Amino acid sequence: MNEKEKKFHWDSKIPDGPLEEKWNFFKRNSKLISPNNRKKFKIIVVGTGLSGCAAAATLAEQGYQVSSFCFHESARRAHSIAAQGGVNAAKNYKNDGDSVTRMFRDTLKGGDFRSREANVYRLSECSIPFIDLAVSQGVPFNREYGGYLENRSFGGVQVSRTFYSKGQTGQQLLLGAYQALMRQIHLGNVKLYTNSELLDYIIIDGQAKGIIVRNLLNGQLEKYSAHAIVVASGGFGKIYYLSTLALGCNATAVWRAHKKGALFANPSWTQIHPTSLPQSNGYQSKLTLMSESLRNDGRIWVPKSKEEHRSPGDIPEEDRDYYLERKYPSYGNLAPRDISSRAAKERIDLDFGVGPLKNAVYLDFKDAKKTLGEEVLRARYGNLFDMYKKITDVNPLSEPMLISPSAHFSMGGLWVDYELMTSVPGLYAIGEANFADHGANRLGANSLLQASVDGYFILPVTLPNYLHDKVNLGLVSTDHPSFLESEEKIKNEIHFFTKANGQKLVDDYHKELGKILYDACGLKRSESGLKSAIETIQNLRENFLSGNIKVPTDAFSKNAELEKAGRMKDYLELAELMCLDALLREESCGAHFRMEHQTADGEAKRDDKNFQFVSCFEWSGDVSKPILHKETLEFEYFFPKDRDYK
Ligand SMILES: Cc1cc2nc3c(=O)[nH]c(=O)nc-3n(C[C@H](O)[C@H](O)[C@H](O)COP(=O)(O)OP(=O)(O)OC[C@H]3O[C@@H](n4cnc5c(N)ncnc54)[C@H](O)[C@@H]3O)c2cc1C
Repeated sequence: MNEKEKKFHWDSKIPDGPLEEKWNFFKRNSKLISPNNRKKFKIIVVGTGLSGCAAAATLAEQGYQVSSFCFHESARRAHSIAAQGGVNAAKNYKNDGDSVTRMFRDTLKGGDFRSREANVYRLSECSIPFIDLAVSQGVPFNREYGGYLENRSFGGVQVSRTFYSKGQTGQQLLLGAYQALMRQIHLGNVKLYTNSELLDYIIIDGQAKGIIVRNLLNGQLEKYSAHAIVVASGGFGKIYYLSTLALGCNATAVWRAHKKGALFANPSWTQIHPTSLPQSNGYQSKLTLMSESLRNDGRIWVPKSKEEHRSPGDIPEEDRDYYLERKYPSYGNLAPRDISSRAAKERIDLDFGVGPLKNAVYLDFKDAKKTLGEEVLRARYGNLFDMYKKITDVNPLSEPMLISPSAHFSMGGLWVDYELMTSVPGLYAIGEANFADHGANRLGANSLLQASVDGYFILPVTLPNYLHDKVNLGLVSTDHPSFLESEEKIKNEIHFFTKANGQKLVDDYHKELGKILYDACGLKRSESGLKSAIETIQNLRENFLSGNIKVPTDAFSKNAELEKAGRMKDYLELAELMCLDALLREESCGAHFRMEHQTADGEAKRDDKNFQFVSCFEWSGDVSKPILHKETLEFEYFFPKDRDYK
């Protein structure tokens, strides 16, 4: 790490006033752009997931000219479509004691007091109108017999605040946002560029002015300028290779923004989800998530004996260890994800694991079937049960599911202020691409919410603060030297990959990197493990950059290996930053569990005195020597305390 740790000099722009009033105060005092002037502004939105679709549709509805980009062949293939379990809102429909304040506290505590109070409160506050918006769009949420929207619980909370559409909530929410986007496309307010991968940002005089994308069908580089750019490119958990994310998810859009001046915050905080399907062989390229919602009714256990050979149905109650219920009686199977994943790994590492590779635990619906009946369970989780059956050929209502922890969600991402602007003026980051709301561990069902409110409610209010004094400012020409220089650099990179003529497949690098990261910078981290991982990553990167890669030579038609090579180059740099971040944080908090910092009973031991900050990294030109800045976190309304789920 660069010795020169620098003073944090960015303004987080947290509004004054009492917590409950901050967002209202902010909205009241935000600048406005008159409807006639909005059409003079061109906004680029990179990404068409829930956050990107929501932002593009809302900004276009307001009158801005929007260009929307995604690397998929259709906007609705964004990874939000895969989200299953639900979306949180403090509506208190169940009358079980929920409120905005309770949701704020649950989220702050769930993130182990490593997020900003003001952001978390706003997220909770905006959850209420968001559900109304989704219902107006026609999102088919599950309902109770009386017509009210149904709610269930997710990990880390003791109320039911999760709204859901069976096990397809992300799909239904994205379709809502997608139809809003399509409406604007048909009205001519949004221009959609599919099969277009962002490869660089154009920053002129310190401000974001344009992007360069590669048309993935014909290989042409295309240049676009704009008055502001929004990064909505999703998470980078796929860096672990085996993860719950789709194969195409990657870090390129956030990493290249970082290399152009945007601070990268808390890069090492990755959520390892407790209920994914276990790895079953060495050839798999992804793992499948089984939604956390299943933990509402399923019970997690392993046999008490390491020598157990009976099939699960034959193992009597007294020989089962319901370890979450035993260790965390008040939250039981709904303990938060970081805690549940570590507990599963602990059982597996101690040889209590089950399944052919002994790398899983059971998720069992036997009791729920007796109390609720198959019909109710099917109504709640039918598509998840079908998915499990299709993949494993086992009916989870007859035999327990096998589940295991797997890389899932990036709490870290581009640093943004309260306005969702990165440290580069005019460059915004929304949804999973930013670091903002979840602290060191995201609570289940808070991410669809964050992506949605960032796009629908927050960005449209904050953007005019940047644009209002630029009404007559034209666009930068795409022949500006900054565009040409960047274009040249990308051409050279593509040339390097297609001419490399090496032996090793990009996927082989990715697999190796994923294993290094999962072992050293996954569920458990240690000083020695991280130091040796950094060295191994540096060697792997050196090998990659020496040209030992096998990529088909045609750069001017669809070339998936070429796409992967560019993404891999970025992963190999980001991976080192993740390890450096994990190494400097000499505490355990949320998903970041440093073996050296645990309580006597193996729980995470936070160090608020020395680490109550967001680690923000500035690109120094040398990936091994990032410049660290610390944004101190202040708590005025809910003071950090031990995170106890027992
Ligand atoms: C299996 C699974 C289940 C989940 N279930 C839930 C749940 O039940 N509840 C919950 O709250 N959260 C859930 N999550 C998390 C949640 O789905 C995501 O955090 C959220 O959908 C992210 O939305 P997004 O808009 O930020 O990004 P995404 O939906 O990932 O969209 C990213 C977009 O960026 C584009 N893109 C990326 N890079 C580039 C580039 N270089 N150039 C051009 N385009 C680019 C992609 O094409 C895509 O359009 C789940 C996640 C997974 C993996």
